[in-house]
Amino acid sequence: MKPPRFAYHAPGSVDEAVALLGRYGGEAKLLAGGQSLVPLLNFRLSRPAALVDLNRIAALAYVREDGAHIRIGAMTRQRTIEFSPTVRRRLPLLGEATTLVGHLPIRTRGTIGGSLAHADPSAEYPAVLTALDGQVVVRGPRGERTLTAGRLFQGYLTTALAADELLVEVRLPAMPDGAGFAFEELSRRHGDFAIIGVAVMVVRAGGSGRAAARLATAGAGPVPVRLRAAEEILERDGLSDAAIDAAASRAAELVDPPSDIHASAAYRRNLTRVLTARALRRAINALPPPERDRAE
Ligand SMILES: Cc1cc2nc3c(=O)[nH]c(=O)nc-3n(C[C@H](O)[C@H](O)[C@H](O)COP(=O)(O)OP(=O)(O)OC[C@H]3O[C@@H](n4cnc5c(N)ncnc54)[C@H](O)[C@@H]3O)c2cc1C
Repeated sequence: MKPPRFAYHAPGSVDEAVALLGRYGGEAKLLAGGQSLVPLLNFRLSRPAALVDLNRIAALAYVREDGAHIRIGAMTRQRTIEFSPTVRRRLPLLGEATTLVGHLPIRTRGTIGGSLAHADPSAEYPAVLTALDGQVVVRGPRGERTLTAGRLFQGYLTTALAADELLVEVRLPAMPDGAGFAFEELSRRHGDFAIIGVAVMVVRAGGSGRAAARLATAGAGPVPVRLRAAEEILERDGLSDAAIDAAASRAAELVDPPSDIHASAAYRRNLTRVLTARALRRAINALPPPERDRAE
């Protein structure tokens, strides 16, 4: 099918884009990589009066180190993120997650801002934003505001962005040196959205065997779930096999996944347990040895 008729605008700046969104009073849609929006238009599931194409706003595509944070412009292509030396060095969890997003042509057009604004619960980037305590910067007619992942994702394909607001930047704290990480997911075919995905980061806290852990899911509910109570088990009990199994079991209790044509809720819950344990083991195996072992 073809999309219904729409007006088309290609602004050269964020201010112009915001003004256009205001002019259409909620009836315009932003076009980023088009990898989610264009199918919705073609199936006529979305019928905007106008498209505001962000592809000519060059100032929205960058990966920048800013002290302890990495700032990524909303129009940065997923492919750029996949090959960014800065991401590889300081946000390797984001780099690994990117390789799991669709296929090469999708990552070549798709953007980080489009993925987060689309808020598909099975997408990898929302889970990474949640696990790493990232934030997004949003610009609208009333100025700029910053949203945490918890505030951004409101429900299935729904964010806290107003109709006249635009996501301009993603800010992620750089991962500590030596952090272990893994993004594990199960999908039916390579490149499909995950049935369940689990993002993990683990950091040793000194030589005491203690650790800090970050865990978040994709596909286990309408929004990504931060598995704080599972993280606490690892922080309290360390990184032993027993602690990993206990954290993974707790993870399965913390999610409330849906049943749909792809999988039942029970299957997704069990998968959350299995993939949490798998991701934790891989992340922990990649950690440098504890300080006391290195001193010996
Ligand atoms: C076959 C296929 C497989 C895929 N597999 C995966 C997968 O495994 N994992 C995954 O995560 N994704 C997957 N995707 C989706 C892909 O990652 C998209 O790139 C992404 O969801 C949307 O990014 P986009 O830049 O293409 O945004 P668009 O499609 O252009 O826009 C998506 C939505 O976000 C809004 N939007 C875009 N940019 C902004 C902004 N800066 N501010 C506010 N709103 C904005 C648009 O108005 C629209 O509503 C797949 C897509 C296809 C076609």
